[in-house]
Amino acid sequence: MKDIDKIKEKLKESRAEKIFIQYPEGLVPKIVNIARYLEKEGFEVVLSMEPCYGACDLRDMEAKRLGCDTILHIGHTDFGLESELPIVYWEYRLDTDPIPTLKEEFHKLKPYKKIGLVTSLQFVDAMNNVKEFLEENGKEVFVHKTLNYFGQILGCCVYPAEVIQDKVDCFLYVGAGKFHPLGVAIKVDKPVFSLDVERNEIYNLESEKMKYLKKKAWRDSQLEDADTVGILVSWKKGQNRIEEARKLKKELEDKGKGVTILAFDRITDNKLEGLKFDILVNMICPRLDDEVVL
Ligand code: SF4
Repeated sequence: MKDIDKIKEKLKESRAEKIFIQYPEGLVPKIVNIARYLEKEGFEVVLSMEPCYGACDLRDMEAKRLGCDTILHIGHTDFGLESELPIVYWEYRLDTDPIPTLKEEFHKLKPYKKIGLVTSLQFVDAMNNVKEFLEENGKEVFVHKTLNYFGQILGCCVYPAEVIQDKVDCFLYVGAGKFHPLGVAIKVDKPVFSLDVERNEIYNLESEKMKYLKKKAWRDSQLEDADTVGILVSWKKGQNRIEEARKLKKELEDKGKGVTILAFDRITDNKLEGLKFDILVNMICPRLDDEVVL
């Protein structure tokens, strides 16, 4: 486990004794070994069994209630939230080499001279090599820093792409999966490609973007026609949009709709079963839009 010794030192520096660990679902197969390692090093560990999708989800009150003195947040970086307890972030950056795929698939970027680069936290170490390769092969590369690292985006923050969109012909996301590059594609008017280090290919997000926009247009029209609306909010520290929800409730009520605010920790289908609303409006994680209208 890369970096675990550095994390152990950071925990010691912050005088941690009882650690509450939050981690993404992808780490489930490894998390018990991580806990055992830290326990052998003298820490007491409590593993959170609630899913954690981002640093927006900070369980400091829960950890405190369980008598823990430090949170170890794995797979995320500081979101700037105030906490009742010290937090050690283990970014869990991955060693990947996207250059062989980039070489192989470079022809797909041929029509584009100016390229905006973005990535997600786990892949920030690969950015320099990608930038160098593109520049050596005649491209002009633009990268903006808004979060902790150059080009870093979140599912709910693609500002580093938005601010450079007028300068570039297309965007290239370095990473894996469609979640992050689709977030860029729906916010910018330029083509977005993913250099996917797991699929070993470069692909365009255009068709996913079109599907998303069609769905969104349909949902927006459903909202116009709805008589009853449920607004979903979360009490998670970094996802609490209750004031915006109250404002939206008032606006919709002024249009004659019946509106109820529904608060969650984690949304699951069975929690919504039996509730009769014409439509639900998501005001939790803005990317939870597959099930509900934005
Ligand atoms: S609000 Fe959603 S997209 Fe943003 S950091 Fe949290 S989980 Fe990720």
